[in-house]
Amino acid sequence: MVDWAAIEEKWQRRWEEAHLFESDPDPEKPKFYITVAYPYPNSPQHIGHGRTYTLADVHARYRRMQGYNVLLPMAWHYTGTPIIAMVERLKEGDEDLIETFTDIYHIPRERLRELETPIGMARYFTEEIKQGMKRMGYSIDWRREFTTIDPYYSKFIHWQFEKLRQRGYITQGSHPVGWCPHCGNPVGQHDTIGDIEPEIQGFTAIKFRDGDEIYPTATLRPETVFGVANIWVNPDADYVKAKVDGETWIVSQRAAEKLVFLGCKVEVLEKMKGVELLGRRVVNPATGAEVPILPAEFVDPNHATGVVMSVPAHAPYDYIALKTLQGLSNTALKRMGLRPGDVRPLKPIGIIEVPGYGEWPAAEVVERMGIETQNDPKLEEATKEVYGEEFRNGLMRGNTGTYAGIRVEAAREAVRKDLIAEGNATTIYELVKPVYCRCGTEVVVKIFENQWFINYGDPDWKRLAHENLDEMTIIPREFRQEFENVIDWLKAKACARKVGMGTRLPWAPDWIIEALSDSTIYMAYYTVVRHLKRLQPDPETLDVEFWDYIFLGEGSAMRVSEKTGIPIEELEKMREEFLYFYPLDARHSGRDLIPNHLTFMIFNHTAIFPRDLWPRGIYVNGSVLMEGQKMSKSLKNIIPLIEAIREFGADPLRLSLMATAEPIKDADFSRSLAKSMRETLERLYDRVMEAAEHEGDPSELRDIDLWMLSRLQRHIAEATEAMEELRVRRAIHAILYDMNQDLEWYLRRVAPQRERRSKAINYVLRRVAEAQVKMLAPFTPHLCEELWEALGGEGFVSTAPWPKVDESLIRPDLEEKENIVKACLEDIQHILRVTGIQPQHIHLYTATSWKWKVYLKALELASAGELDVGSLIRECFKDEELRFRAGEVPEFARAIVEDVTKTPEDRVKTRLEMGVVNELIVLQDAADFLKAEFNCEVSICGESDPWIKDPEGRAKRAKPYRPAIYIE
Ligand SMILES: [Zn+2]
Repeated sequence: MVDWAAIEEKWQRRWEEAHLFESDPDPEKPKFYITVAYPYPNSPQHIGHGRTYTLADVHARYRRMQGYNVLLPMAWHYTGTPIIAMVERLKEGDEDLIETFTDIYHIPRERLRELETPIGMARYFTEEIKQGMKRMGYSIDWRREFTTIDPYYSKFIHWQFEKLRQRGYITQGSHPVGWCPHCGNPVGQHDTIGDIEPEIQGFTAIKFRDGDEIYPTATLRPETVFGVANIWVNPDADYVKAKVDGETWIVSQRAAEKLVFLGCKVEVLEKMKGVELLGRRVVNPATGAEVPILPAEFVDPNHATGVVMSVPAHAPYDYIALKTLQGLSNTALKRMGLRPGDVRPLKPIGIIEVPGYGEWPAAEVVERMGIETQNDPKLEEATKEVYGEEFRNGLMRGNTGTYAGIRVEAAREAVRKDLIAEGNATTIYELVKPVYCRCGTEVVVKIFENQWFINYGDPDWKRLAHENLDEMTIIPREFRQEFENVIDWLKAKACARKVGMGTRLPWAPDWIIEALSDSTIYMAYYTVVRHLKRLQPDPETLDVEFWDYIFLGEGSAMRVSEKTGIPIEELEKMREEFLYFYPLDARHSGRDLIPNHLTFMIFNHTAIFPRDLWPRGIYVNGSVLMEGQKMSKSLKNIIPLIEAIREFGADPLRLSLMATAEPIKDADFSRSLAKSMRETLERLYDRVMEAAEHEGDPSELRDIDLWMLSRLQRHIAEATEAMEELRVRRAIHAILYDMNQDLEWYLRRVAPQRERRSKAINYVLRRVAEAQVKMLAPFTPHLCEELWEALGGEGFVSTAPWPKVDESLIRPDLEEKENIVKACLEDIQHILRVTGIQPQHIHLYTATSWKWKVYLKALELASAGELDVGSLIRECFKDEELRFRAGEVPEFARAIVEDVTKTPEDRVKTRLEMGVVNELIVLQDAADFLKAEFNCEVSICGESDPWIKDPEGRAKRAKPYRPAIYIE
């Protein structure tokens, strides 16, 4: 049994005592600098968090074993509102949160009080997360730890913002932002429940009129105003008549509340139900037509204005809603206050011509998909199809006045502009889908006045960001395009708020820099923070000049020294340490941070640092599912990291998080998976411990031993190639499963010789064990240290060299020969299974020399790309001996062509180089193995040997690499 807890503690202690992961500049060694997004300490970590950090640690450990001086630091993101929001919920006695803290994370109830201040909570969880990281065995240089509200850090952020402002990337203005009315703060991805970025869309609100009453219908397709058959409201929702900036508007009550945030002056005059609006008639400002107001249940009063125009020819929802209404009886219509004469004659009005569709594309698609009701989920798909086709291929029809003949894409913008210019429309902003602040309040759109922005929309800056991206490693590669897109669409981003923890804007101290803006270049800060902590200068003296010197090499050390009191040689040391570790080689994070943090990091680096110090690599990974499902409180499937370590052991947990999926995919975790990983590792432990007892001796290695050593090189090569791109699943499979499979075969093959040849066999087992322990070390470091020590390895396995492929040990010929034995074994097993014979005696017959001639000719033709039956036979008949066998050659040639076409190219080449194989010797060497496997006599002879015993005439079936078999 493996005592996981004891092994983990032992090695964590030893690493710490040896200061193993504390990295100082070493001019003799190349460096590799890895960082991973620092956590918000506003709750404990669960195994989902473990994946990103474990992957970064695996990466760090791999590079360390490749001889790099690796730096992996860690810090704590206190900035902004995530911590404050959590404290608020706790203080309000939020039952859900208290239950999560006490029941899932087992925080003692009596300690909850200390979490009721932001600093109290941040400290508590910092300690908790840090313990978790240590117990996971992360190879972090803890001397560089800091929080984002430390005075030194604030001075660093001041410098960053002064630089951005100097370079013209800071702007001030009014923009729509996601906003929490309860917290009174702009809301970004990190402030929302479920970490959803609040995406804002601009709608055109077209003003339909009834006298001086305005019905603003919100739409993303203003060009369809020409096809409006009627207006929809939700009959059950609450509506108001309100003065909005001097006009009288009829909108949903929720809309009236939200218009205030968009900067409108709103005064509610009257409240009513949607049903009271039915039957009224309004005038279409584009056509002058009068259309009725009708009921539709799909209208969401919480979205935009709650008043919608109906374009049944081009909008599937409208088409089906109108059809439903027209299907009702006159009595039913009258009961809703509708005149049947208003409803019955309504017809879709086609205004867009699309190739492949008739006059009413929406009607066609609805009929084709068999959609009958307004809540059919297929409506979404139908809408997508119609909107997409019309946008790409549609032309405005003749009934659209001056827009006739214009492409939909262009008409959309033109109609919008014209309506707004005529005073018949206005722009309102709305979220694409509802998002909730962490406090539980629904996020709204607010026009934010005099807000400070980082202008990621600057075209010159975008160009620099692209240039950085072009030279950067993006792993997995598939994500590169996503970065390209984000750089292109990023716009000005609000960078400061009125509340929250963090650093104040240096030129406007009533603003606090928000969390996604103070976390973009802190990788530079890690390189010098340990010196600041040691030297303790007055934070106030660390002004722009100090950081300019350290990070840009500008100004004079003497002047900075005078100001800060830091000795010149210490300043030089900091500058050197920064230049040693920078640029950053690898930034790790979850893939959800591509649209913001990771791309902001690129932008900010290109704005501030010289080109040779821009980041060189980004590594992202998917999330963790729990038995196929998202982890969530309601599913009660969250496993706290600390608990998982206790339950499974750190190494089995690390291996489970890495082995199930490549970083590009979501990883599926389960308790049974972790248990099976633990068992696999325990079997490895037993085997390596046994191998550790004997050094072995390479002086009498036989083919089968060399075969195993050859396979070992293959797996080293495969694992190394996979690790270069952090395809960890592939690497683990090569190191553990593929290797174990070959090892099992080897042990079976040499079982009968174990006593006789123990020295050679032990030598092989030892080499395999050493390589496996080294290559698994990044994944399961504690166990591997323990095994490395038992194997008598030098120092820590954590810093041992990663195995190198020994080309001289790669023996494709031996691998091919071994395949003959494997094929025999499988064929015999197959025959026994099919016939049910109890074998007494197995006869193996190897192919005769003329067959080898044919076979080698086939290989020759195949490697020249000219193999077919005809040319092979022609080629054979050039040979006198084969011509003599004209009766047998053609049929045999056909069989061989079939075989060879199935053989992979590299193996064709190998077999061609090997020429004729003496299969008799190969099989005779394996005879004791086959005897032991089948517990019977085994004899081997060539198919044309005169002494052959072949009562059933099987021998003639022998082919090269495929001996024939007869079983008695
Ligand atoms: Zn809020």
